[in-house]
Amino acid sequence: MEGRYSALDTALEQLRIAAEKLELDTGIHEMLKYPKRTLVVSINIRMDDGSIKTFTGCRVQHNDARGPFKGGIRYHPDVTLDEVTALAMWMTWKCAVVDIPYGGAKGGVCCNPKEMSMGELERLTRRYISLIFDLIGPYRDVPAPDVYTDAQTMAWIMDTYSQMKGYSIPECVTGKPLSVGGSEGRAEATSLGVMFCVREAAKLLGLKMKNAQMVVQGFGNVGWNAAKIAYDWGCKIIGVSDSSGGIYCPEGLNPYKVYQHKTKTGSVVDFEQCKNLTNEELLELECDILVPAALENQITKTNAANIKAKIIAEGANGPTTPEADKMLNEKGVLLVPDILANSGGVTVSYFEWVQNLTREHWTLEEVNQKLENKIVKAFNDVYKTSEDEEEPMRTAALMLGVGRVAEAIRTLGLWP
Ligand code: NAD
Repeated sequence: MEGRYSALDTALEQLRIAAEKLELDTGIHEMLKYPKRTLVVSINIRMDDGSIKTFTGCRVQHNDARGPFKGGIRYHPDVTLDEVTALAMWMTWKCAVVDIPYGGAKGGVCCNPKEMSMGELERLTRRYISLIFDLIGPYRDVPAPDVYTDAQTMAWIMDTYSQMKGYSIPECVTGKPLSVGGSEGRAEATSLGVMFCVREAAKLLGLKMKNAQMVVQGFGNVGWNAAKIAYDWGCKIIGVSDSSGGIYCPEGLNPYKVYQHKTKTGSVVDFEQCKNLTNEELLELECDILVPAALENQITKTNAANIKAKIIAEGANGPTTPEADKMLNEKGVLLVPDILANSGGVTVSYFEWVQNLTREHWTLEEVNQKLENKIVKAFNDVYKTSEDEEEPMRTAALMLGVGRVAEAIRTLGLWP
């Protein structure tokens, strides 16, 4: 396949590779190319200036053979139905790889949250949820945060859904604040999962975590928390970035201070004693570990040859195109794919759902221990498949995920 990849092109190509390796029934392969259900909605809200504005949103439910649909909601000006469909498909494989009883879904609203007030975002969220209300629910489809949505957004979702039902239903959404049934450890879960994978990958390469040089693209929920955990574990964070650009400091920077700087100025750029650089330059820095934690299609055939990291752990979904994948593999880079590396978020979302359904509250130690067990098991399962099949970690993870979903489909059968 030549040319520019969309997220959906990437997801379909990955599915094709997995289907070929698994010698998957062509009917099941065909079935998995498409979501089970898609709903597109027009969200009309009153803006602060009194005008009415219409935003387009969607919810894509890819596959629920292994359990209720699960997946985040993204607010971004570039959101498209194709992108959300790809993200929903990746959720299906991810839940299967980390072996939690969910299918895959995703939601998106095409908007620019940076230009909207809290009031506008609240009205947008509540109206969007009222429009997709029939599709979601604790046993149907459980949303969670993604790019530019957070715990506050999830609280509005819980409240809207509960008000419409007439009673409190915390288990209808995960990633909530602690005060309304959120789980300990959810905010850091994706990043902790990424770092458990990095640690396991480093062991395979005989690389010590202490002073390992790490670069992080994206300084939001996943990127900032990954940088913080890595710093606390003794890694040297030499570069980070956000949508405005990147910063580089070969001596290592303190991510806590960068976070304060970003809170004050709105960006990581111009941080003390650091050199500013572009996101493109950041990805090509000499380092041991690279964590892409922003958006899709960041590592492509254009820059893959210049990537110098020994380990890439995909905090973001779909940051690497299939062409780049091949090039990185040929260079001997150990790439921990998104559906394994960032599965810590959905894993603790699952823990949150279980706690809500059983009306329990686990300690942070319990949550993190269970998370570590799940991620290390998934890492080892993928690594073993990779060794047995003599395939890179991405193909191995896809074979495991797609294979488990196909097995569930075969077991359930088709009705009517
Ligand atoms: P976020 O909104 O908290 O942060 C996104 C960050 O990326 C921000 O710092 C933003 O400035 C930066 N960014 C945006 N465009 C960029 C660009 N072109 N170049 C560099 N940086 C850019 O989002 P998040 O929740 O941290 O999600 C980041 C990625 O991780 C996404 O791919 C998401 O799907 C994936 N992910 C998130 C979770 C989760 O629990 N939040 C779980 C699994 C995967």
